[in-house]
Amino acid sequence: MSYDSTNVFARILRKEIPAELLHEDEHCVAFRDVSPQAPHHLLVIPRRPISRLADAKPEDREVLGHLLLTAAELARSQGFADDGYRLVINNGEGGGQTVFHLHVHVLGGREFAWPPG
Ligand code: AMP
Repeated sequence: MSYDSTNVFARILRKEIPAELLHEDEHCVAFRDVSPQAPHHLLVIPRRPISRLADAKPEDREVLGHLLLTAAELARSQGFADDGYRLVINNGEGGGQTVFHLHVHVLGGREFAWPPG
């Protein structure tokens, strides 16, 4: 799908909407989810305009790996890694995606059921 640059995460990247950034580097930024689904709920997003995982391309390989490594590092630095945590990428409306800028949810601080429901 084509990328709509009016989405809320694009606006956070452009600093049109305030967000307390927990991490930023050349590839990604991370901040807290405004509607947390766990005691710890972070979002890690690429700077690149990728609508959803299904639209990622082979040239995004390094960025995608970087998102996961950054998520793991944030779980450590925010102090919830040792108890376990969950990463979620919702892909498309049917997958529960509501913001069409790729993002990794990092959830921690509680137990998580499997299957996720
Ligand atoms: P998804 O449903 O996977 O697309 O996740 C989108 C997430 O973005 C939801 O968990 C929302 O709570 C979160 N969200 C929406 N607007 C903001 C915002 N301004 N700052 C932080 N998180 C947001």
